[in-house]
Amino acid sequence: MMVVVRGDEELAGRAADLAGRLPEALEPLARIAYNYRWRWYPGGKDVFRSIDEGRWELCGENPVRLLQEASGEALARAAGDRALLARAASLEDAFALDLGRASVGPFSPGRPIAFLCAEYGVHRSLPIYSGGLGVLAGDLLKEASDGALPLVAVGLMYRQGYFRQRLEASGWQQEYWVDIDPERLPAALVRAPDGRPVTITVPIRGSEVSAQIWRVAVGRVPLFLLDADLPENGRLERWITSQLYVADPVTRLSQYVLLGVGGVRALAALGIEPGLVHLNEGHAAFAVLELAREEAARGASVEAALEAARQRTVFTTHTPVAAGNETYPRELVFDTLAGVSGELGVDPEMIVRLGRQHPEDGAEPFGTTVFSLRMSRSANGVSRRHGGVSREMWRGLWPERPVDSVPITHVTNGVHLPSWVGPPMRRLLDRHLGDDWLWRASDAATWEALDRIPDAELWEARREQRAELVRFVQERSGIDRLAERQPRAGIETAARAFDPDVLTIGFARRNATYKRLGLLTRDPGRALALLAGRRVQFVLAGKAHPSDEEAKRVVQELFRVKDAPHVAEHVVYLHDYDLGMAPRLLRGCDVWLNLPRPPMEASGTSGMKAVINGGLNLSTLDGWWAEAYDGTNGWALPGEVHPDAVAQDERDAAALFDLLEQQVLPAFYGRDADGLPRSWLARIRASMRTLAPAFCAGRMLGDYIERIYAPTTTRA
Ligand SMILES: *Cc1c(COP(=O)(O)O)cnc(C)c1O
Repeated sequence: MMVVVRGDEELAGRAADLAGRLPEALEPLARIAYNYRWRWYPGGKDVFRSIDEGRWELCGENPVRLLQEASGEALARAAGDRALLARAASLEDAFALDLGRASVGPFSPGRPIAFLCAEYGVHRSLPIYSGGLGVLAGDLLKEASDGALPLVAVGLMYRQGYFRQRLEASGWQQEYWVDIDPERLPAALVRAPDGRPVTITVPIRGSEVSAQIWRVAVGRVPLFLLDADLPENGRLERWITSQLYVADPVTRLSQYVLLGVGGVRALAALGIEPGLVHLNEGHAAFAVLELAREEAARGASVEAALEAARQRTVFTTHTPVAAGNETYPRELVFDTLAGVSGELGVDPEMIVRLGRQHPEDGAEPFGTTVFSLRMSRSANGVSRRHGGVSREMWRGLWPERPVDSVPITHVTNGVHLPSWVGPPMRRLLDRHLGDDWLWRASDAATWEALDRIPDAELWEARREQRAELVRFVQERSGIDRLAERQPRAGIETAARAFDPDVLTIGFARRNATYKRLGLLTRDPGRALALLAGRRVQFVLAGKAHPSDEEAKRVVQELFRVKDAPHVAEHVVYLHDYDLGMAPRLLRGCDVWLNLPRPPMEASGTSGMKAVINGGLNLSTLDGWWAEAYDGTNGWALPGEVHPDAVAQDERDAAALFDLLEQQVLPAFYGRDADGLPRSWLARIRASMRTLAPAFCAGRMLGDYIERIYAPTTTRA
């Protein structure tokens, strides 16, 4: 059954509008541009890029902008490119088949799962994500699309998104924000039959805040984004959907009310009654209050309404450190939620109490995680270890239970393979695993065929992907270093020094102190000695949250050694890590480093993205790696919780360099008569065989469906 979802027609209308301004032969491209499905279709990106490569980059790989801004000459040339047109036609056919498939799973398209999250990392051109949480949410939507699961997603349309990063010569981070123009995104405002935008209102801090609803298509999955930047709202209200993770707590809490309460209202306004609400992290927790209000409006008592709402809600926590779980003072919650609690008919004091570990403790602030744990029928962490850490952390909520039976389970994260696998590796796997391998990726048997891939072919695919990264680094690091105002001569030498045949080690992610990037320069002498051998090069990147001064200092610390011999030639710190850069790094790096301080890594997902590209992980035994590492499929640093952070860092930095010097380098450079690193290739095979089926999004989504979403999952 095809269900028409609100916003479908509006997207089609915008595509038709754009098509009308293109040469006739290119009209299909306008339709393709309005659904992010092209992003994970082989060759999808090339269709747009080949129209005008330079402009594709200028437009931030936004296909709508590309088609709006490409010159008449470029469009005319594309309209005469038979290969391009054939590719576009086959893309359109494939998408029609994909969208036409019947949906699957325990939920009906009429009562879908509603997935609520503060950030989504769908694509570089929609910059409403900051890091792992958002990118995971984006991957989950893509996998739900592939799996034909009836799921709709709700988030916020931040008009300035997340910040962009530039580094000074000293390594100090500068932030700037770029306005997003939704008119130029592959998005459409959802409209009522009279043509006016559908809006909802939510009482926040005494004002009725209006929001309109943007619709984005992620394959089959609709993503609805609330936008309060409307003239009928006051300046401060319009600011609610300005920036992701804005530092001001008042605005932040207002965002959460809009996301949670407004999210459920938006679905109702669009005629969607969710069968289940999935709170991905506690930011959207107030959704429960709106679900309860709906129940109460149907006649239930407030207690019964809250319980009914709870039975429709599941919660995923991503935060393994107490300080990372956001809390707000009682008075702020009162002021922000007065209207919402009034509509539900509860005392705001009751809401605050539900967000305290010890409800009677007047000094304890309101915590979004505690509230979510209390108000959901199921809760899970995002790796096996994180499940345990969460049970320990939140056992106070269930004082009568032993810690092992605290009702928090885990679903380990996984990544959307088609989005992360590089083209050379994909072609290799298509050839040897059967061309439907992506549909069988969570089945371990699929990966047995890896043994049939000749070593030489596997190595060639690795080399191709590394060479592509090296080209990217040469280009990008030059631009970055010019922006840092480094001397020109040095920049040129440095760019030339990056080498496609040298062991390439990557470390890139949201830059938080617990990720311990600083271990690399903990013993500068040893680091410089390693670089002096000229057999290893490092690609680093990552943004620190604007108010995280400590994390910014870590990068500055790295920059202190930048003028030492060999550093500039073999180490780059690329500016402005984002979803455009991440796949390039993850495809090309031979070793992907992750050095979190245990137990602070809830899961980590970037290492999973390296796996499908034949990259090897060297990581602390924390998060996903604690259940992934088996001695043959990568390398590990100790994962126990250490009482002395300084001693731990010293020990782990030494262990890291021991591994690099004694195991990683010898394995990479140990070549046989054919020039092949046989033991390295054996390790890649072990990594892909053991990790790809277990840490792909297909496995993750299957777990969610079976263990979390299945209508019978309930906890006491
Ligand atoms: C996967 C990803 C992350 C998460 O990285 P971790 O190492 O798991 O923290 C962050 N940012 C981007 C752009 C990603 O693609």
